Amino acid sequence: MTSKRNLVGLAWPALTDFFLELGQPEYRAKQLMEWIYQHNVGDFSQMSNFPKELRQKLEETAVVGAGEVVARQVAADGTTKLAIAFSEDRIVECVILRYHYGVTLCLSSQVGCKMGCAFCASGLGGFVDNLTTAEIIEQIWQANQELAAQGLRVGHLVYMGMGEPLDNYPQVIESIRFANNPATFNIGMRNITVSTSGVVPGIRQLAEENLPLTLSISLHAPLDYLRDQIMPINQRYPLTELMLAVRDYARTSRRRVTFEYILLAGFNDQLIHAEKLASLLAGIIANVNVIPYNEVPGLPWQAPSDKQIRFFLRALEARGVTATLRRELGPEIEAACGQLRRRLQGEE
Ligand code: SF4
Repeated sequence: MTSKRNLVGLAWPALTDFFLELGQPEYRAKQLMEWIYQHNVGDFSQMSNFPKELRQKLEETAVVGAGEVVARQVAADGTTKLAIAFSEDRIVECVILRYHYGVTLCLSSQVGCKMGCAFCASGLGGFVDNLTTAEIIEQIWQANQELAAQGLRVGHLVYMGMGEPLDNYPQVIESIRFANNPATFNIGMRNITVSTSGVVPGIRQLAEENLPLTLSISLHAPLDYLRDQIMPINQRYPLTELMLAVRDYARTSRRRVTFEYILLAGFNDQLIHAEKLASLLAGIIANVNVIPYNEVPGLPWQAPSDKQIRFFLRALEARGVTATLRRELGPEIEAACGQLRRRLQGEE
């Protein structure tokens, strides 16, 4: 830990105040933002348009980035998981995914999670804390540091890592606006996805923001009695209430809503489930991401067979549902979110 001021994620007014306190003109804030977010430079000694005395002063008083990458796992396809420690008990994960259209970063919004989904490694250790806006933003900064050598940078964000984004609403929204700012990462709103386990008031609040981002619902079961078993939030906001909020969101935003559906062998992968899912989504412009489960040590769930996965997809398609098969990351990088953090903290 350092007592120096962390400049990553610092909003414009705070950054200009910081430079004014150092006796510097406001435009230094703009220059610094260009170095950090556009040139991906965090070393003050390389900031060549700053006078030498200012560079020294910055080295004494400030840092670019408060976290440290404490573990890194790289899969054969280049997918990279980073564990970033902001302190001993404040470790988060983010995942860099490479697609033909660019680089996507899957971000964490909390340390741990309150939602307690039965299939998830992140919820196993319980909830620790909300991430600050700066800590969310720093995941993008650290990912860009990783990518710099290949001339790449993050172009898409999915808030689908550790934590429930809508349970940390103010920081998540602030981080989205920050990342979207042309003076920072300039990531288009349409390239940003917010995923929720079904926090209905948060979905309604998000609709009022009127941002052209993508809402993603972690559905995982099309019937209340099943969803109750794996997602405790369903007892608070059952499917009728959730789908009402989703329909309102889809109508006001005019955006396609995506639904995540993890296939758990023998639990939610049968014909009846495909039928119920199709009727639940009727009339919504939707895409279902079907994700075969990635087994987590200590949890009882299993992945379905390839045959059952194909059967489920065909059953959805036959009922007019647009569905995409999403393979989660291979076990070689402890794919389920929260697994790497748990291992680092000796919880697994
Ligand atoms: S699946 Fe998401 S919402 Fe559910 S416990 Fe895991 S991190 Fe939290």
